[in-house]
Amino acid sequence: MQPSGTVSLVGAGPGSPDLITVRGLKRLREAEVVVYDALIHPELLEQIHPEAERVYAGKRGYCVGSTLQETICDVLANRAGQGLRVVRLKGGDPCVFGRGGEEAEFLAERGIEVEIVPGVTTAVGACAAANIPLTHRDAGQSVALITGHFDPESPDCTHDWAALAKMSTLVVYMGLRHLHAIAAKLIDAGLDPFTPATVIANATLPSQIVVDSPLALIADAARNLPAPAILVIGEVAAKPQAPRVPLAASRQHPGVAFA
Ligand code: SAH
Repeated sequence: MQPSGTVSLVGAGPGSPDLITVRGLKRLREAEVVVYDALIHPELLEQIHPEAERVYAGKRGYCVGSTLQETICDVLANRAGQGLRVVRLKGGDPCVFGRGGEEAEFLAERGIEVEIVPGVTTAVGACAAANIPLTHRDAGQSVALITGHFDPESPDCTHDWAALAKMSTLVVYMGLRHLHAIAAKLIDAGLDPFTPATVIANATLPSQIVVDSPLALIADAARNLPAPAILVIGEVAAKPQAPRVPLAASRQHPGVAFA
């Protein structure tokens, strides 16, 4: 009988290749098959064994040219079914807006062993890189991570804006296209239009851009920013522990010398 393979859902971290975990890097190096997303840094891909199979499963933007989720799941199940060690490498954490939960369910239903290796999710990585404390005793006792993928006016968007407006800190993933509507919904729901907001694009990478603005003006301030970008709303956004500009320069990632 064929030995059963495993699938490790590995978080690659938010961008900079040295933000993967030690366990994640180990799994990546030992993998016989790696199925990876669009935002994975090329230096991490260099860590894949030369004889391992690489499968690109990029799904950027809004499904144009996307690899269908079912195809990805089928590839994972198929390779694990051949007894291979499979790594499914995803940006940030595999289970924070990463569909890791769906893939794990699909595999578990087929009797395939699944391991989840956490990663630094963008909310954590981007705030660290922009010197924003995600929580703060004086200014941030609660945090909500939300998706901004759906148009806030569409029925697909199920957010309780009134409840969200009461959180100390909100971190919005995939919200670049809907910044204006998201800010408007929160302000309508009672959030002060002057609440500090920050958009961080290309977080943790040398190309990182950080834009600060009161919430009411954040969509205009961040108008020309590239994806991927994340929005942080709350008093913590006005609490950088050190000036942003010199930090951004010194933070530039010089390349990774993996041991
Ligand atoms: N699983 C990932 C999130 C995937 S959803 C995680 O845990 O971080 C994709 C969204 O994440 C993007 O639309 C963007 O909002 C955010 N994101 C991913 N990488 C980013 C980066 N380097 N800088 C800013 N935002 C990023």
